[in-house]
Amino acid sequence: MTEEKNQSKEKTSGIFRSGYIAIIGRPNVGKSTLLNQILGEKVAIVSPKPQTTRNRITGIRTTSTSQIIFLDTPGIHQGHSLMNRRMVDTALHTLDEVDGVLWLLDAHDKIKQEEERIAETLRGVETPVLILINKIDLVSKGKLLPLMERCAQLLPGKEIVPVSALKGEGLDILLNIVERWLPQGEPFFTGGEYTDQSERFLASEIVREKVFLLTREEIPYGVAVTIDEFSEKEEKNLIVILATIHTERDSHKGILIGKRGAMLKEIGKQAREELEALFGCRIFLELFVRVDPNWTQNPHLLIEMGL
Ligand code: GDP
Ligand code: MG
Repeated sequence: MTEEKNQSKEKTSGIFRSGYIAIIGRPNVGKSTLLNQILGEKVAIVSPKPQTTRNRITGIRTTSTSQIIFLDTPGIHQGHSLMNRRMVDTALHTLDEVDGVLWLLDAHDKIKQEEERIAETLRGVETPVLILINKIDLVSKGKLLPLMERCAQLLPGKEIVPVSALKGEGLDILLNIVERWLPQGEPFFTGGEYTDQSERFLASEIVREKVFLLTREEIPYGVAVTIDEFSEKEEKNLIVILATIHTERDSHKGILIGKRGAMLKEIGKQAREELEALFGCRIFLELFVRVDPNWTQNPHLLIEMGL
């Protein structure tokens, strides 16, 4: 940290905090809605297929006093296949590494086996946990209290905050608690809330999401997406994005490209449409597929992916 930076920070706030927060909870409890509400932009990837995300940054919220980097931690509630088991391991590992965990439950739904499993997992981590009972706009107070008691049984000693991600209720309380968890430190990401970097990141996530949605089971897990060029042509209200889909196998390359390029074209079309809606401008998106058997070993790629 330079002296200059230090002083300007001192002037505005005194202490700056920054850290990583994992958001967990079974599908449909409102994780993406919560993130989008907190960040005020569509950042989290919403998709009908579970586990579209590994442990990934889904949003960064920077204010004058703190930077919260939200991570999506999938796989914590399923443990069937080997891939799933690996994802569970990663999820558990992540929970120990982050500065705090937000566990979302649906006030409108019963506590299920998945919740019991999550609670069991959380009992084993030392990281601070906040239980969020979401969708309180759908239930009466009378129903909420028993649910809160049940949560307190499942995971004793944790703070419980009822929220409505959709209506934005209770979010200031939750953000206050989260901020207190964060260690003092410089922001990990600089340049404002929506940096070029995070836009690039979003672009790669959206392409990856389309690969997930459009290809068969085994393909998505071996895929990484990097952005080779991201340039804004302001005068034309256009962003030019060149991206590479890295895959570990030759056979997967064929599937990703498809018959006469049909698959790649569709991935590109859907990603472009979503990016145009997200960034509010025209997008020129060109996709490449590259077989890269060792992409998981390539530190440059991993850094770019935020892993
Ligand atoms: P995720 O799978 O955990 O990411 O859940 P989503 O954020 O995709 O939300 C699943 C569904 O619940 C969507 O239809 C949301 O609109 C809805 N939802 C999320 N939060 C709330 C809330 O606070 N109140 C209500 N009524 N609906 C919500
Ligand atoms: Mg989601």
